[in-house]
Amino acid sequence: MPRRLIVGNWKMHKTATEAAAIVQQLMKLVPEPGNVEVVLAPPFTALQAAGQAMPIPHPFILAAQNLFWEDQGPFTGEISAPMIKELGCQYVILGHSERRQHFGDHDEGINRKIRAALRHRLRPILCVGESLGDREGGRTETVVTGQLLRCLDGISKDELRMITIAYEPVWAIGTGRPASPAQAAAVHKTLRATLASSWGPEACKPVRILYGGSVTPENAGEFLVSDQVDGALVGGACLDPQSFAKMIGLAQNVAG
Ligand code: PEP
Repeated sequence: MPRRLIVGNWKMHKTATEAAAIVQQLMKLVPEPGNVEVVLAPPFTALQAAGQAMPIPHPFILAAQNLFWEDQGPFTGEISAPMIKELGCQYVILGHSERRQHFGDHDEGINRKIRAALRHRLRPILCVGESLGDREGGRTETVVTGQLLRCLDGISKDELRMITIAYEPVWAIGTGRPASPAQAAAVHKTLRATLASSWGPEACKPVRILYGGSVTPENAGEFLVSDQVDGALVGGACLDPQSFAKMIGLAQNVAG
C-alpha cells in the first residue's frame, strides 16, 4: 500500500504571519511525521512564510490550492506552476468543488492545469465528487468517473504515478455531514477500477485516493482503517493544529 497522505486545505484562511504560527505549533505537536506524508495547502500569500517557518528538510510538504495553466503572461490575478514551485510547493490541489462552483473551473480547464503542473514536476491532487442531487439521482458513479477521465485525458502511464485523487462528495464538504466510510470505500473502488481499466492495473498502483468531506479527529479513524482509503483531504478541521495533529496521529497508527 502506498504511504498514507494527510492534506490540510486551508482554503482562504490565515495571513502569512498566522500561517507561520500555525506551522510552528504543528511542528511541536507532530515532531516526526514518520510513515505519513503530511501536506499543508495554505493560501498563495502564506506559502513562503509557511516554508520559512520550517527547518530544512521540511517536515511537512507544501501544496498550492490552484494554479493557472500558462507559465506567464497577461492573466491578471492568476498564479502559475513555476511561481508556486519556486516557493517550495510539491503538490497542487486542482478541481476542488469550491473552484468549480464559484470560479467556473471545469474538467477541460482542470485537465490543462494538471498538464501544466506535470510539466513542472508538481504533483496534482485532483478532486472529484458528486452533488447531493447526483447522489440522490443514482448518478454518483457516472459523475465521478466522468470527471476523472475528462480531467486525466491524455495523461501517460508515467505521469499517472504523480497523480493523487481526492474523492470529495460536494454535499459533505463543510457541512459536518461526512459520507459514511462504506460510501467512500465504494466510490474509491469504482475510481480505482476506472483507473485500472484505462491505464492498466500496474500503472494505477501508486495512485493514492483520499477521502475528503467533513473529516474530523472524531471520524478520521473510520476512513483511514479502510484499505480503499489512502488518506484524507481535510478542510475546516485542519485549521486547528491540535485537531490536525490528532488526525495525523490516527494515520500514523493505522499505517503502523
Ligand atoms: C475541503 O475543503 O477539501 C474539505 C474537505 O473541507 P471540509 O473538511 O471542511 O469538509
